Amino acid sequence: MKVALLLGIAALALGGASPDRQQVDLLIRGGTVYAGSGEPFTGDVAIKGDRIVAVGPRVKVAAGRVIDARGMIVAPGFIDPHTHMGDDLASDDAAVRLIPAFLMQGVTTAFIGNDGGGDPDVAKVLGSARTRPVGINYAAYVGFGAVREKVVGAADRAPTDAERTRMKALVAGAMCQGALGLSTGLFYAPQSFAATEEVVALAREAGLRGGVYDSHIRDESSYTVGLSAAIDEAIAIGREGGLPTHISHIKALGVDVQGQAPAIIAKVEAARRAGQKVTADQYPWSASGTSLVASLMPLWAQDGGRPALLARLDDPALAERLRAGIAENLRKRGGAAKLLIVEGRYANRTLEDVAGELGQDPVSAAIAVIRIQDPGVVSFNQSEADIIAFMKRPWVMTGSDASGGHPRVYGSFARKYAKYVRAERVLSLGEFVERSTSLTADTFGIADRGRLRPGAFADVVVFDPATYAARATYEQPTLLAQGVRTVVVNGVVAVDEGALTGKAAGRALAHTPTPGTCG
Ligand SMILES: [Zn+2]
Repeated sequence: MKVALLLGIAALALGGASPDRQQVDLLIRGGTVYAGSGEPFTGDVAIKGDRIVAVGPRVKVAAGRVIDARGMIVAPGFIDPHTHMGDDLASDDAAVRLIPAFLMQGVTTAFIGNDGGGDPDVAKVLGSARTRPVGINYAAYVGFGAVREKVVGAADRAPTDAERTRMKALVAGAMCQGALGLSTGLFYAPQSFAATEEVVALAREAGLRGGVYDSHIRDESSYTVGLSAAIDEAIAIGREGGLPTHISHIKALGVDVQGQAPAIIAKVEAARRAGQKVTADQYPWSASGTSLVASLMPLWAQDGGRPALLARLDDPALAERLRAGIAENLRKRGGAAKLLIVEGRYANRTLEDVAGELGQDPVSAAIAVIRIQDPGVVSFNQSEADIIAFMKRPWVMTGSDASGGHPRVYGSFARKYAKYVRAERVLSLGEFVERSTSLTADTFGIADRGRLRPGAFADVVVFDPATYAARATYEQPTLLAQGVRTVVVNGVVAVDEGALTGKAAGRALAHTPTPGTCG
C-alpha cells in the first residue's frame, strides 16, 4: 500500500495533474541511455503496453510506475544470435522456460537452432510459446544437420537427386514458416560429409526467402581443411547462395592456428569491401565447449554415429590408427590438461586428472571415458590476442553459444562488459551495447528491436555500470550474473530490483519471408 501510494505521488509529480500529458505504463527515468546506436545521453524511456512511446532527455508523461535509473545504464535488451536454449525454451518446467541465466544478464532475445541443429518444423518450434510461455523472445533457424539426417541419415555419402530435392523443399518450407535462415555445423558429422555445393543449393533456398547463412564453419582449427579454408568456404557459400554469411563464434582454435585472427579478419573484410554481407559473433571466453568425442575422435571414426564408433573402439585392427588420431587432436588442443570434463562420472576433472586416476595415458583414458558416455568438455584453446582482435571489429557481435556445462550460458554478456569494457577498455560501452543490440537486429532483420526508439518493442535492460559482471566460472558455471537492476520484455517487468518477477513475457519471433517466395 505504501509503495503504491509513493508511486502515485511520483506519477503526480511527473505531471499526472496535467491533462494534456500522455498516460504511460512505465517510465524509466534519469539513466544514462545508450539507445543501441548514437551518442549516449541522460534521459528517460517511456513505455505503454508492449511498446516504447518516448525516449529523450526529458520525457513529459504521466506514468503508472516510475523506475529511478539515475546512475544506471539503460540499453535495449541484448540479443544473442547463437544459443542452444531450444530445449529450455520448450521445457515442461515453467521456471526453466523463463531462462533466468539470460534475463539476469539483460538478454531479452535469443536465436535457437544453431550449428545445423534447428528442427525443420519451424512452425512447431515457434508455436510452442503459445502454450508454453517463455521468459525471453526467440527466433529459430532451420538446421542443415537436422535436414540432412532426416533425408540422408548419418552416412558419409552425397545425397541422390531425389534426396537433394527433398532437402531443398524442407529448407524452403521452414523459411516460409518463419525461420531466420539456414544454420550449419559443417564441423560435425554427418554435416561434415556434405560437399560445399550441396550446402550452397540449400543456402540458396534460404536466401531466396530473405534468410541468412549461419555457419559453425567446417574447421576452426587444423582438423581437416584448416581454419583459413573453412572461412573461405563460408564466404563462398554466401556469395554463391546469394545471401548474407554469418560466422558463428568466430575463433582460432588450437595451437596450430593461434595467431591467425588478423589473416581471418583480412579475408572477411575483403569480402565486405567487395559488397558481400559477412558478419560474425563471438563469446568472450578462451575455452570453447564441445564434447569429448567431437574434440578428440577422428571424423572417420564417427561415421555412422555412436554405435559405429563403439564398434571401432573394439576393433583391434583399427586401434593404432585410432590412437594416433586421438593423440594428434589432443596435441592440437594443447594437451590433456587443457580439456576439462564438465559432466558425468568425471565432472570437474581435466583429462590429465582422469588419466592419473585411471593410471593410464591420456589417449587410453579418453577412450575409457568415451566407452561410458560422451561427456561435455571445455577446451582451453584460444589466445587472448586473437579474442581481442576479433572483438574489436565492428562486424563482430556478442553471442554466447550457450550450452550446458560452460559459464558462457550464465555470463557471456556480463563478462564481456566487465572484462573487456570496464576493466580492459578493449571496447567502449557504446560499442558493446551496439554490438549486443542494433547490429544484431539489423543483421538478422529482427524488426522493431535492438534500439530504444518510439514504436519499438519495449525490451529494455537497466544495469549498474559499477557492478554488472558475470559470477559464473568454469568450476561453477551456473551462477547468475550480477548488476542488472531491471529488465523489461515486451513492456513487462521481468527483472525488478535485481530479482526475477517470474513473468514470462517473451514471444516467438517469426521471420517474414520475402514476399512472393512462399506459396
Ligand atoms: Zn557451434
